Amino acid sequence: MPYIGCHLSASKGNLAMVRMAQSIGADTFAFFTRNPRGSKAKPEDPQDCAAAMQALEEGGFGPLVAHGAYTMNLCTADPEARGFAASVLMDDLRRMAALPGQYYNFHPGSHVGQGVEAAVDQIAAALKRAMEPGYPVTVLLETMAGKGSEVGGTFQELKMILDAVGRDDLGVCLDTCHVYDGGYDIVEDLDGVLAQFDQVIGLDRLKALHLNDSKNPFASHKDRHECIGKGSLGLDTFRKIMAHPLLKDKPMILETPNELPGYQAEIGLLRSL
Ligand code: FE
Ligand code: FE
Ligand code: ZN
Repeated sequence: MPYIGCHLSASKGNLAMVRMAQSIGADTFAFFTRNPRGSKAKPEDPQDCAAAMQALEEGGFGPLVAHGAYTMNLCTADPEARGFAASVLMDDLRRMAALPGQYYNFHPGSHVGQGVEAAVDQIAAALKRAMEPGYPVTVLLETMAGKGSEVGGTFQELKMILDAVGRDDLGVCLDTCHVYDGGYDIVEDLDGVLAQFDQVIGLDRLKALHLNDSKNPFASHKDRHECIGKGSLGLDTFRKIMAHPLLKDKPMILETPNELPGYQAEIGLLRSL
């Protein structure tokens, strides 16, 4: 059985998130390491981190899947902004060390006209530098919908980054809405898409999933999340995902348009599948 959870607000601290997760039946969760649209991070609280780690263990949680800020674009064309994004990544990974063993997922970025190859080099350079100290965190590249000049809309692009970085503690988080919007038909052929992932990237690199239905049709390259079972993926697709032997034991994070009660209901729904 996969671990299931949702995005939670980090404003009350890490232990509060663990308790909030437990109150809605989650055994993993996601949180933004800093304001998702800005760059400010809360000061660290080692006692809160230690208490949260203990509560995670006692509660039988799977790995958490922290999320980097949307604004962190490691392959933006402006060198100064790019350098700032790289320093944000570095700071995020350093801060994740207070919660050892968890995952940190982020959007590879948008190349804004520079082209994929230049972008891959820039993303890889930032990752190499930020991961160099060897913090106890597994970093995940999110599969993207391929909106605009987004990098990571194909398994091949993610593989380019993985190869350029060349580290075992770098993996992939598969977002169900993004891959479907991106042209991977997990509705008609989940097995085929996973086989493709294995062929191009290797399933050993698949560490986590984002569970979202999609407001848009197949290959629309749009990225608009819908509640589970209410969009173009449909409940049957999530039934297959929940039962899939290659996906068991992975943390799965809901990023659907919900408040806590809605998340609680979706977690219950997914477990009942
Ligand atoms: Fe994301
Ligand atoms: Fe996502
Ligand atoms: Zn999305």
